[in-house]
Amino acid sequence: MATLIQFAYVVSAALFILGLKNLGSPATARKGNLISASGMLLAIVVALLDQGIVEYQFIILGILVGGVIGAAVARLVAMTAMPEMVALFNGFGGLASLLVGWAAITPLAGTITLVTVVLSVLIGGLTFTGSLIAYGKLSEVIDGKPVMFKGQQIVNSLIVLSILGSAVMFCLEPSNSQWLYLVIGLALVFGVMAVIPIGGADMPVVISLLNSYSGLAACAAGFAINNNILIVAGSLVGASGIILTQIMCKAMNRSLGNVLFSGFGSVTDDTTEVEGEVKPISVDDAYYVLEAASNVAIVPGYGMAVAQAQHVVKELQELLEQNGCEVNYGIHPVAGRMPGHMNVLLAEADVSYDQLLEMDDINPRMENVDVCIVIGANDVVNPAARESESSPIYGMPVINVDHARTVFVLKRSMASGFAGIENPLFYKENTRMLFGDAKESIGGLIREFE
Ligand code: NDP
Repeated sequence: MATLIQFAYVVSAALFILGLKNLGSPATARKGNLISASGMLLAIVVALLDQGIVEYQFIILGILVGGVIGAAVARLVAMTAMPEMVALFNGFGGLASLLVGWAAITPLAGTITLVTVVLSVLIGGLTFTGSLIAYGKLSEVIDGKPVMFKGQQIVNSLIVLSILGSAVMFCLEPSNSQWLYLVIGLALVFGVMAVIPIGGADMPVVISLLNSYSGLAACAAGFAINNNILIVAGSLVGASGIILTQIMCKAMNRSLGNVLFSGFGSVTDDTTEVEGEVKPISVDDAYYVLEAASNVAIVPGYGMAVAQAQHVVKELQELLEQNGCEVNYGIHPVAGRMPGHMNVLLAEADVSYDQLLEMDDINPRMENVDVCIVIGANDVVNPAARESESSPIYGMPVINVDHARTVFVLKRSMASGFAGIENPLFYKENTRMLFGDAKESIGGLIREFE
């Protein structure tokens, strides 16, 4: 029986890895999700058999309640609120590891087990409260501005030292649970302290990092209860979370240290000077320009998600193609509010993956583009990142939409994007602003074509 159980765990682990591999491309992501979920189902069933549980009623109740909440939330949550949902998932994952670690303490527990218990409650606890703060900041339940005060680093250092001290004391004196309670309490406080100095704009990166932490906490809990599949699953989450965090930091040209400790967004130190004037364009006039274009690039951003314009964008693409025009999409790695945000939306509208070009592929082609249609993107197309050394985003790689012959920017106003900074693109000689909700503006263009 024991061999069979370990074999089933190996099959689950293989399914997780296969699932992750499939998640690497939009074309196979759905299949990847299903494969990983099957691996998890197998792991749960086998773990329940493995632990020799005699009473299943609470487990079944838990599965039912959790399943109903999960299914309802997944159906109800808007695509734009997905990062907040992931934050909550991570937070509860951390809390689960904290509870599993805590429950693993037995009078016979050796030092290694005690150390893994401490790690699971510590990482799980800070992941829980850190994720709740990240959720609050992203959903604007709490102010997204970085909270910084005098002596903050000293306070944080004292918390870390106290955590270390209590953890050592707990391992030396496991019968005195006060030390463990202290570790748990301090870990919960530290989660809050670690996330409050980070601005709302950086929350997606923090969420990805906390995702990695939730994996590490699960991994530690796996060691604490001696469950191999929990160790494997936790390691996979820990590693993929940190890789994703790195990718996001690179796309913003910032180090992880800068994201975590710089208080980005606390001061508006943007002294970018803009020249030129804003030139609005009507739907009619935009249609005439597009009708004559033979090469169009579409660059979507967060505004496309807000307007839910992906389906009309696809319709416009088809009309342009029927008119003999080549159409491609330029996808910035941090467009929107989560990695792959634009890919997911465009996949939902059945846009072919071959037409989605990454930033490094579309940029060299931009000079041959007749019209670049920027749909609700702002920071990711801001030429200040190239041109203005005083801009807070100077050095961040952006899509060079201003290199196209003509640029149409579809947005509702002159408001800034997530980074809260000026965008000289709107004032460029070759830029025309098509003001209004993106879905309505594109709907207008479609009517003109038809
Ligand atoms: P931005 O947030 O820079 O800009 C979005 C624009 O969309 C706004 O200027 C807004 O202008 C416009 N908009 C909003 N609603 C609508 C609507 N209904 N119709 C038309 N336009 C609309 O988005 P980007 O995608 O360009 O940049 C993403 C930002 O998020 C970057 O700063 C990035 O660093 C940050 N970020 C992203 C992460 C990710 O993983 N994707 C992770 C971390 C950070 P207006 O209000 O005038 O309409």
